[in-house]
Amino acid sequence: MPSRWKKAFILITIAVLVGLFIFFDLQRYLTLAHLKAQQETLQSYYASHRLLTLAGYFCFYIIVTALSLPGAAVMTLAGGALFGFWPALLVVSFASSIGATLAFLVSRFLLRDWVQSRFGNRLKTVNAGIAREGAFYLFSLRLVPVFPFFVINLVLGLTPMRAPTFYAVSQVGMLAGTAVYVNAGTRLGQITSLSGILSPELLISFALLGLFPLIAKKGVDFMKARRVLKAYPRPRKFDYNLVVIGAGSAGLVASYIAAAVKARVALIEKHKMGGDCLNTGCVPSKALLRSAKMLAYGRRAQDYGFKKTVIDFDFAEVMERVQRVIGKVEPHDSVARYTALGVDCISGAAKLTSPYSVEVNGRTLTTRNIIVATGAVPLLPPIPGLDRIDYLTSDNLWHLRDLPRRLVVLGGGPIGCEMSQAFARFGSRVTQVEMAPHIMGREDPEVADFIRARFEAEGVRVLTGHTARQVLIEGDEQLLVCENQGRQVTIPFDRLLVAVGRRANIEGFGLEELGVRISPRGTIETDPLLRTNIPNILCAGDVAGPYQFTHTAGHQAWYAAVNALFSPFKTFRADYRVIPWCTFTDPEVARVGLNENQAQERGIDFEVVRYELAELDRAIAEEEAEGWIKVITPTGKDKILGATIVGAHAGDLLAEFILAMKHGIGLNKILGTIHSYPTLAEANKAVAGEWKRAHIPEKLLGRVEKFHAWRRG
Ligand SMILES: Cc1cc2nc3c(=O)[nH]c(=O)nc-3n(C[C@H](O)[C@H](O)[C@H](O)COP(=O)(O)OP(=O)(O)OC[C@H]3O[C@@H](n4cnc5c(N)ncnc54)[C@H](O)[C@@H]3O)c2cc1C
Repeated sequence: MPSRWKKAFILITIAVLVGLFIFFDLQRYLTLAHLKAQQETLQSYYASHRLLTLAGYFCFYIIVTALSLPGAAVMTLAGGALFGFWPALLVVSFASSIGATLAFLVSRFLLRDWVQSRFGNRLKTVNAGIAREGAFYLFSLRLVPVFPFFVINLVLGLTPMRAPTFYAVSQVGMLAGTAVYVNAGTRLGQITSLSGILSPELLISFALLGLFPLIAKKGVDFMKARRVLKAYPRPRKFDYNLVVIGAGSAGLVASYIAAAVKARVALIEKHKMGGDCLNTGCVPSKALLRSAKMLAYGRRAQDYGFKKTVIDFDFAEVMERVQRVIGKVEPHDSVARYTALGVDCISGAAKLTSPYSVEVNGRTLTTRNIIVATGAVPLLPPIPGLDRIDYLTSDNLWHLRDLPRRLVVLGGGPIGCEMSQAFARFGSRVTQVEMAPHIMGREDPEVADFIRARFEAEGVRVLTGHTARQVLIEGDEQLLVCENQGRQVTIPFDRLLVAVGRRANIEGFGLEELGVRISPRGTIETDPLLRTNIPNILCAGDVAGPYQFTHTAGHQAWYAAVNALFSPFKTFRADYRVIPWCTFTDPEVARVGLNENQAQERGIDFEVVRYELAELDRAIAEEEAEGWIKVITPTGKDKILGATIVGAHAGDLLAEFILAMKHGIGLNKILGTIHSYPTLAEANKAVAGEWKRAHIPEKLLGRVEKFHAWRRG
């Protein structure tokens, strides 16, 4: 039976049962007065039909609780009055837990997907909290009757809590309350009202019991932290409030924040200030892409009204320019600048020797807190023969001065794509190898196919679905052997660039010795405050993951620094709700929030609105009229769930959507904002216009048409 029918069937069944309950006014049997009046009759029936009464009671109790009907409290009293304390406790505790779990499952089946898809983004934190501490919360709620029993069943059904966990915790958590009611039932004659059963003293003791698991958890966390910390003598005084290890994007921001709030901070860097982004990542790659783009423009001279343009170049000089660009940015990240800001910059390899001390150049620095911002290194896949060749990675690529004649780029991610296109533009014969079915695996297939077609038009041989199996050296020839659908594909090459991802830098500087926990992804495990399992050691950037961008490194660094310096007085949970990124191919691909694929996977009821850059005046004038903007919204609403832009300057254009998503601004507001003419940014307004056009209030327009007709006489 299709799921929609099943849902309809369950809904109708529930509606019928509830309807019958109301129609026959069965509620009157589930009142204290009725119970008292019928006590003797019920007891004599039970004396002659024990098993039948128990079974009937058990089933009826389950039905009442599963349908969330009022009356569970009276039924519990009845149980105590009829069966006595222990049998009633046994029957009620199982019946109530089973009934509660059924209500939980019904709510889950009927509504969870809808709720999660509609509010999924906002519920992320709740879901994560439930995954982490859901059992504790439920236990507390079961003990402290602040929310009605049936509300807890229905609400928790909408969360990702597992049904067995829900059942088990309910069974244990409700036991105390059930015992109180059953016990009251055994003395039914003395009870005058339901509310009288729970005295204020009893409620307070339940509240304390309910809070106990949460307090206990916090206590256990505190004790664990203390146990770890106890093994290390805590200095009476610290040299620093904060020692930051690694002066990449994360470390620089963390130390900047610390200095800005007048903390004493040391920043230790073993290699170059600026880390990956400045020296081997974003800056050199974007500089190289720019030079490559000049060549591409040269080749398109006729598009711009020229007969021919000849660009003469020497690859070594291009690579020198890349170094010059790094040199120009360097002062922003330099020791001089950070020293002037109040940061103690130390050059050397740091090693954590305790949660309170870091060793560098034979010197021990004591510190209240440590931020690990040691970044990531290129991941080397275990391909036999790779170690026998002088392969390239993003670390050593920038030393290259001779253009490879035949270049294999291993990897279809952002780095692989950017470098494939750049080197092809300089004249290398590039083969890009990716084992997944698409390059740019994070984006919609439509985007990946578009970029692939562009690459192929520029001479890049793109091999998707190809798994690199071996590197061979045959005479003077180097070969990459790949497997594609069971057949072998051999690619000769002069240089091979490994760009299959980056691995967090977690080894060899003391994390292992201190027992800092590592996540299954190989990054340092953190809590939402970016603390490791040793609470005064925090981390940020690529080493923390899950994102590996300069802007997320800086974002996390702010949280890590503030939480390190101001905990326990004030802390902030890292906010990952709106994370943008851009792949700087030509055209660029930029995204924030959901793409179409993800919206489908999450079962969201969504719409896609699209605007082609071919329509945009400025893009036409610039000969950049290709690409599109695609915005995902909930059906019928202008709220932005995600935006993907493919086109010139997509990364810059995306800023408006990032702002809109961050501050809950919808497409209507973007449409109502003046954008200068002619700019590429007008495309953002245009896509909002497309959305509006698709949501024209037809009925209203019909009436307006009549109004105008009437005005014409
Ligand atoms: C080719 C390429 C292009 C990229 N392009 C972009 C882009 O366009 N946009 C974007 O957002 N991101 C881009 N990135 C990713 C970006 O560079 C990283 O996400 C960012 O640099 C991470 O910063 P981080 O501070 O975590 O680490 P890093 O910048 O790697 O800094 C870590 C630092 O820690 C130091 N260190 C390590 N261990 C120790 C130790 N024991 N003692 C002292 N120092 C230590 C290292 O020497 C390093 O300097 C690119 C990356 C690459 C490789």
